Amino acid sequence: MAEEGSVHVSNKQVFLKDYITGYLEESDMCVKTDNTVHLKLPEGSNGVVVKNLYLSVDPYMRLLMQKFDTHGIFSHFALNSPVRGYGVARICESGDPNFKKGDLIWGTTGWEEYSVLTSTDDHFKIEHTDVPLSYYTGILGMPGIAAYYGFELCSAKKGETVFVSSACGGVGQLVGQFAKSAGCYVVGSAGSDEKVNLLKSKLGFDEAFNYKEESDLDAALKRYFPEGIDVYFDNVGGQMLDAVVLNMKYMGRIALCGMISQYNNIDSREGTHNLISAIFKAVRIEGVQVHRYYPLYPKFLEFILPLIREGKIAYVEDIVEGLENGPAALAGLLRGRNVGKHIIAVASE
Ligand code: NAP
Repeated sequence: MAEEGSVHVSNKQVFLKDYITGYLEESDMCVKTDNTVHLKLPEGSNGVVVKNLYLSVDPYMRLLMQKFDTHGIFSHFALNSPVRGYGVARICESGDPNFKKGDLIWGTTGWEEYSVLTSTDDHFKIEHTDVPLSYYTGILGMPGIAAYYGFELCSAKKGETVFVSSACGGVGQLVGQFAKSAGCYVVGSAGSDEKVNLLKSKLGFDEAFNYKEESDLDAALKRYFPEGIDVYFDNVGGQMLDAVVLNMKYMGRIALCGMISQYNNIDSREGTHNLISAIFKAVRIEGVQVHRYYPLYPKFLEFILPLIREGKIAYVEDIVEGLENGPAALAGLLRGRNVGKHIIAVASE
């Protein structure tokens, strides 16, 4: 562990060994300790040096492990730098007038104990610490914003039917609760009976099913939505999206938030064969791009913080201890091993 204040410190870091195709394996990454890290900011820099406290384990990270075009939203990981992702960090040194030493922030950082961030353009100062700090990787961070504004795109009305895939994850569990508080009938799908039980017992879903036990997704959806689906919040794409399109109601809405079922086979993605039904049913399909909503973050906080403080919203986290367990956590997320928002606890405050 590095000693703050010293110039040269040791810094544990996670690297991608090489660009990959197919399923991510833990062995595709390695953990190294650099004993010669220079933690001082260069003279005149307006960046910050941070101590990373929590790192977010996010599906999109898999896409950056090969040279996949995200249309300028992300760039793929460099092999000679630590893997990047969202995190919560404390500032050790600042050249940025908006942040001072000791401030807590969330935003993109490195999968390492300490990071030098040359830009703080997409970073937010954490002003409220009466809630768990880890929440800024999830409900109070990027996944929370995607869930809230992505669901808002769907214009769901009281009494409508809502379906959420990957419903027990960092995003999905929130969408389900937002839909319930809008007065909708909400069904979620997830990949284990444990997750299905959580959705119904703790996260307020009306119904939930284990999609891995369904041989016919179309039939499963017809069972839960005999009259059809008004709103689909898609976290998975692929065969589930294809089955949902067949079951949408006239003038239904689909928010395309994620397509995790395709992230490990991005070069040979499955097609969505039933999309033609969306024409006949006048279904509106819109992509969720979380960065669009960052300017609305203060408004989102005003909405969500009281719900957390009053215990009116639940948030299930799956926290692993130690940066060295990061590679297994990310490989596991892409196989559905996480139960709730997946997070790595790197250091205590
Ligand atoms: P998450 O749901 O907490 O974790 C990923 C989950 O995906 C796994 O636990 C697993 O759950 C499911 N999964 C893995 N492989 C799958 C497959 N082949 N088919 C179906 N499900 C599979 O992740 P999250 O952070 O909440 O993200 C959910 C989705 O939203 C992801 O697609 C992510 O990329 C996307 N996202 C998009 C934005 C945006 O701006 N558009 C922002 C945030 C997140 P099961 O056990 O249910 O299979």
